[in-house]
Amino acid sequence: MYIHNGKVKKVYARKEVILSAGAIDSPKLLLLSGIGPKEQLQTHGIRSVVDLKGVGQNFQDHPLVAGISYTTERNAENLIPMMYGGNSQRDYIRNRTGPLSVPFGVVGYFTVNLGVDPDPNVEDTLFLFQSVLMGTDFGLVGVSTYGYTREVFQDYLREQGGRTGFVITVKLNWPKSRGSVSLRSKNPMEAPVIDPNYLSHPDDVEMLLKSIKYALIIGNTTALKDGLGAKLYDKPLLGCKHLKHGSDDYWRCFVRRMLSIGYHPSGTCKMAPPVRGVEGLRVIDASIMPLITSSNLNAPTMMIGEKGASMIKEDWGYVE
Ligand SMILES: Cc1cc2nc3c(=O)[nH]c(=O)nc-3n(C[C@H](O)[C@H](O)[C@H](O)COP(=O)(O)OP(=O)(O)OC[C@H]3O[C@@H](n4cnc5c(N)ncnc54)[C@H](O)[C@@H]3O)c2cc1C
Repeated sequence: MYIHNGKVKKVYARKEVILSAGAIDSPKLLLLSGIGPKEQLQTHGIRSVVDLKGVGQNFQDHPLVAGISYTTERNAENLIPMMYGGNSQRDYIRNRTGPLSVPFGVVGYFTVNLGVDPDPNVEDTLFLFQSVLMGTDFGLVGVSTYGYTREVFQDYLREQGGRTGFVITVKLNWPKSRGSVSLRSKNPMEAPVIDPNYLSHPDDVEMLLKSIKYALIIGNTTALKDGLGAKLYDKPLLGCKHLKHGSDDYWRCFVRRMLSIGYHPSGTCKMAPPVRGVEGLRVIDASIMPLITSSNLNAPTMMIGEKGASMIKEDWGYVE
């Protein structure tokens, strides 16, 4: 069913319905259609078609902490004009090239195994280097992108305004916490309840703590200390000021206060198409991932689409 010019219209499928509404809306549409945990559907007065407990569960995203900040004293004077100066703007507007074509001054990243996965060849943590401080732009873009509050900006980041420096962001490739998407009501126009449940698994906090310590070792290298005059931005964070700066408890608090995400919702329809118990329906999008991929999701989701298309063609005899 869909609404067109204010009228509810119905579409019937002769062969199959393919649901690709993403990790938030695919479970929402299944739930509204009576496919999901029976108890939840009953609460909203929706008739249960198939009692599938997993619909809307297993929500995953990549948690990250964007804010191990270092100010710099030399050899980095060009960073701010490089990012925001006239030449950068010209290059971007004319050719879509230059520093502004890269989001927020990302200059590089690498992944390592810090012990989540017992296989040392599996890289479980990502370190992202950005050539500007979070507060460099006086709160214009960076702060809202990462979802930090105005209070955190005013109290902690504002003093970074206009200063040179860099930020090391740490990201968990395979978090252990799981959240959920559930219905707010049976009204299809209402947004669902998204409970990401970040950091609910204690290992995620400990892994981010471990990652921060690793980032601090990098920040303390001769190349950065002597070469750039890099100094840890050690202003105590709002909400963590009661803890000894630099202690494990301080950084745990920092993780909780400065947590952000990769914008990679996934896993909420953890099943392979076709949907179990329902004929003629497939889910093909990021919601089907049982376990989030270590990388960003765009390319893996495209591959899910390709694989889904191949399976459909095969099932309907369009390929040998
Ligand atoms: C801000 C942001 C930045 C990101 N940056 C990156 C990045 O740099 N690199 C990367 O790899 N990944 C990135 N991602 C993640 C990536 O975009 C997603 O993981 C990917 O697009 C998921 O694909 P999908 O098909 O599952 O869902 P989507 O791409 O969300 O597609 C679902 C589609 O269904 C439509 N839809 C939903 N409900 C209905 C309905 N009821 N009726 C009709 N249509 C409906 C939506 O409008 C949407 O077009 C980013 C995501 C966000 C939000």
